[in-house]
Amino acid sequence: MDEPNQLPVDRRGFLKSAAASAATFVAQPQAGDSQDSPAHDHQVVPSDVTLRVKAIESLLVDKGLVDRAALDAIVEAFETRIGPRNGARIVARAWVDPAYKTHLLADAPTAMAALGFESYQGEEMIVLENSPKIHNLVVCTLCSCYPWPVLGLPPVWYKSAAYRSRAVIDPRGTLKEFGLELDEDVEVRVWDSTAEIRYLVLPERPNGSEHLSEEALAALVTRNAMIGTARVSLRAAGEDE
Ligand code: FE
Repeated sequence: MDEPNQLPVDRRGFLKSAAASAATFVAQPQAGDSQDSPAHDHQVVPSDVTLRVKAIESLLVDKGLVDRAALDAIVEAFETRIGPRNGARIVARAWVDPAYKTHLLADAPTAMAALGFESYQGEEMIVLENSPKIHNLVVCTLCSCYPWPVLGLPPVWYKSAAYRSRAVIDPRGTLKEFGLELDEDVEVRVWDSTAEIRYLVLPERPNGSEHLSEEALAALVTRNAMIGTARVSLRAAGEDE
């Protein structure tokens, strides 16, 4: 607990200490944050961006525009309940249930809602089916639009300028760097996400998976396969990078 470089792990504690640090960067005192805890004199200073985000959050809270408890609930949901396992469940259901797959491809939002995954932002959701001759790849060239309700928070590389530009300029080369080499006769379709439309790739069900249960199938589906930078293999899904 007292190691010099240990970051605070509790979100509320982190916010409090970050707000205290941020207060040194802004002229006005933080009226809502009483400094009643012992000084964190051996704490690692948060990054500039983190400080700015926390400073803005503190100001919004002070002005009564947002509620800290609501923010905590949203962050907690994305950290612990919403992630690629949700998308994997949808993919596995589509693999074992042709009627569900038809529904998913025709009207993804209602098909996802049928499994309990609802949009938070009202955005349209479209599912793209991979086949032996068509491979779909999802990017957001403008920023980082991503199907949050079913994949959680986007990976760092998805937000990088390199991926955002190269996925459209050279999709095959980009996929090669992810370790996915496609035959020349496979058509690559690149889909540019926006604030209004988010995409989820329905990967191909791997050969040899016919005997697996829906649950076991879901365990094979990786986040990258649902973005389109990987295929699903029979190896158990590990952590994507
Ligand atoms: Fe975006």
